[in-house]
Amino acid sequence: MAEGSNKEELGFESEVQQLLDLVINSLYSNKEIFLRELVSNASDAVDKLRFSALSDDALYESDPDLSVIIDFNEKKKTITVSDNGIGMNREDVIANLGTIAKSGTKEFFGALSGDETKDSQLIGQFGVGFYAAFIVAEKVVVTSRKAGDKVSKGVRWESEGKGDYSVESVDKSKRGTDVVLYLKKEAKEFSANNKIREICKKYSDHIAVPIRMIPISGEGDYEVINEATAIWKKAKSEISADDYKEFYRLISNDFMEPLKWVHSQVEGKLEYTTLFYIPQMAPFDLWDRDSKQGIKLYVQRVFIMDDAEELLPRYLRFVKGVIDTNDLPLNVSRELLQKDKALEKIRLASIKKILGLVERLSKTDDYQKFWTTFGRVLKEGIVEDEPHRERISKLLRFSSTVEGGDEPTVGFSDYVSRMKEDQTDIFYITADSFATAKNSPHIEYFLSKGIEVLLLHDPIDEWVTSHLTEFDGKKLKSIVHADLDEEKDGSAEEADDSKDEQEHGEFLEKVKTLLSDKVADVRTSKRLTSSPACLVSSAASPSANMERLLQAAGQQVPESKRILELNMDHPIITLIQKEKNEDKMKSWSNYLFGQSIVAEGGKLDDPAAFIQNINQTLLDTA
Ligand code: ADP
Repeated sequence: MAEGSNKEELGFESEVQQLLDLVINSLYSNKEIFLRELVSNASDAVDKLRFSALSDDALYESDPDLSVIIDFNEKKKTITVSDNGIGMNREDVIANLGTIAKSGTKEFFGALSGDETKDSQLIGQFGVGFYAAFIVAEKVVVTSRKAGDKVSKGVRWESEGKGDYSVESVDKSKRGTDVVLYLKKEAKEFSANNKIREICKKYSDHIAVPIRMIPISGEGDYEVINEATAIWKKAKSEISADDYKEFYRLISNDFMEPLKWVHSQVEGKLEYTTLFYIPQMAPFDLWDRDSKQGIKLYVQRVFIMDDAEELLPRYLRFVKGVIDTNDLPLNVSRELLQKDKALEKIRLASIKKILGLVERLSKTDDYQKFWTTFGRVLKEGIVEDEPHRERISKLLRFSSTVEGGDEPTVGFSDYVSRMKEDQTDIFYITADSFATAKNSPHIEYFLSKGIEVLLLHDPIDEWVTSHLTEFDGKKLKSIVHADLDEEKDGSAEEADDSKDEQEHGEFLEKVKTLLSDKVADVRTSKRLTSSPACLVSSAASPSANMERLLQAAGQQVPESKRILELNMDHPIITLIQKEKNEDKMKSWSNYLFGQSIVAEGGKLDDPAAFIQNINQTLLDTA
């Protein structure tokens, strides 16, 4: 007997109720997915039991035949999904069915737009799970007992999905969980043998656990209604594209089809199978630091764990799929995984497989879509994965002065194929936006000579370019760095330079003195054609964009003064050169410095003073 029922009435966490209401409203037109969610939970519970029983055989309680059973009662309008998996005790039930423990829930609610179509897509990705039951049910009763617990330690959870639920202790002889749905009138069609089979076929065929139902005739032994084989173990020739897509839906919760997949079965010294998918859409928590990894690890078809960082590097966290191997012990722990030599090899081979998949994708029209969705994640690989840096670099896409507008469509190889005959370097500029990069004064010279410049306007690009210094033997050169001129123009123009410096030496010295607290040097520029001035960094110091990023991240940035370059052919410079009044000269110099900062998207120390300075100068010349 249960030791007193200890019945408790409890309220849902407010977010649960919010999620519930959303699920019910937005998935109304896609009701049948409730069954997929419940069967998936049941199958996870079975997987967990199998894994726990590896170290504690007693958990089988002499009932080792693991399965999911679906019953229904047409008259009473009920469906029951039962499993003899791991089960839940009272605390588990309260924690799992009354709260949302998932990471990123807050972000998820933040991302909801109020637009029903969009929100229902998000919900699909979030994985509505158990709460999907309330799409079709007016009441849900869960009875469960944790494997290994006494019969009297069963628990019964009941709710109408309207703010509260009750839990009470009950006896339960069989381990595992029964979920009973009392269907709403308008969902009564689901309590029918054919209907249930049809939905299971559609969504749950490749669950590796058998799903059993009473035969259509209504008589005889329960029969298995799904394929119940691990799809990745079947011969590739026996798997259709639809099978692959269905399996993707099963493991990803994604309602969209995958963009591409790769399945490999390796035999030999190491034996393992991998099946990897690239989704079309980013999961809601792609940028969450604790977001889950999408790979499930199986050993000899026994589910071991998911979300293991050891399986794939972070920059491939958008990939979903499975790794199954015979070369790990069944009782492998996370700690062991980190050191395991076999896994290390599988991991490496998996990275290569996935990069190969992305490479194939890069030759199709779908690549742009992929890049827009996951490009920023893949770029992390340049920093994170030195051994594959070169391979990843070929997959990068950027905006450029030549094509694509702010859509990043240009790869390094496109750039190289368009390089001028005597051009030896790949030129780029980093900035905080496409417009700033594109309109930067630094670019003028390159535009005038028809030399392509890559416009890098994603914050991570600064890190990418600090780790990736060349491509195909060509140096990557930032055009905001000071050492460009020599490289670019060759010796003939160098002579020109020194002539310039001599001619304007006095003027340059003067401006330098007036701005001595702000710039390291003042010199004539070859890179400007229509702007009067710009700032450049010395080769050793970070670009201004990098400095801003570091500051935004709260890091100390050592002060490094930059070089002010002046366009001696510009009428404003000519005007300033004629200025005799020291004070006005100082105003002009500050004005040149200020506009150079503004043009590169930087922040002035004292914007009001800058404006005042301009206003005064305008009045003086009026
Ligand atoms: P998810 O399955 O995505 O974690 P759900 O809302 O579907 O989210 O379920 C919440 C939790 O409740 C699960 O993680 C699991 O711990 C528990 N749970 C649900 N169904 C079962 C079941 N049939 N057996 C054991 N535990 C379950």
